[in-house]
Amino acid sequence: MTNMTHIARKRFGQNFLHDYSVISSILACLQTRPGEHWVEIGPGQGALTEPLLQTNIILDAVELDRDLVSLLKHKFKDHPQLTIHSADALRFDFSSLVKQEEKLRIIGNLPYNISTPLLFHLLENGECIADMHFMLQKEVVDRICAAPGSKKYGRLSVMMQYYCSAECLFEVSPESFDPVPKVTSAVIRLVPHLKPPVVVKDKTLFNNVVTQAFSQRRKTLRNSLKKSVSEEAFVSLGIDPTLRAEAISLQDFANLSNWLIESQS
Ligand code: SAH
Repeated sequence: MTNMTHIARKRFGQNFLHDYSVISSILACLQTRPGEHWVEIGPGQGALTEPLLQTNIILDAVELDRDLVSLLKHKFKDHPQLTIHSADALRFDFSSLVKQEEKLRIIGNLPYNISTPLLFHLLENGECIADMHFMLQKEVVDRICAAPGSKKYGRLSVMMQYYCSAECLFEVSPESFDPVPKVTSAVIRLVPHLKPPVVVKDKTLFNNVVTQAFSQRRKTLRNSLKKSVSEEAFVSLGIDPTLRAEAISLQDFANLSNWLIESQS
């Protein structure tokens, strides 16, 4: 390959990290140990891949843009511990990478246009993942981490907190990327729960109740869930029906969805 210059493609959500202090802050948070099995999503031109490889880990990288795949293969040809997969992370079977008893550690400066479906795709395989560190839009990080009562608390908070614990590590300014995105970013650490924090008997119903409750944020639960939850049910579950969805906890949502199963049987 002669021409190593890559022009960023917007449709692939390409914003390449070029601020070395941000890259080293990310690396410092990861605490990699030699021999660990890591997966990088969207390695791009290798801004994170290169320092990751220096820590002597085993690394699988999943990249959608075929031009970048060839660039990476060329750049890291002397690193046998790196396997580059030319694939769409949204369809990639991450559990197929797991060998024996290990769990994967996942990292990525994610393409923002696919970040939420990708998070759910990964969390559905949460049992094979030790932890995940992602660069996301700060707005999305805040929504994932939000607690009941906050304006940012919504469907994404409840669903994500069912699957994992989430912590915002630090913010990253737009100038740290090329091209410069319109929004501030942040690095988040997600650790899938070994055991769900609440009992949810039917995940589809749970998802439906959460979605329905937040579909019109300003409505009371009594109104937004009118079709499915009776007044008596609210009383028996100890949930005030005059509250809005943003005021109730993950446990309350789990109780509501479990009640629905019983009411249907
Ligand atoms: N990690 C690099 C690049 C970040 S930009 C850096 O920090 O500089 C996001 C990267 O994700 C790009 O390389 C883009 O091509 C890739 N990407 C976009 N959609 C993807 C998908 N569905 N699956 C895998 N990679 C994807």
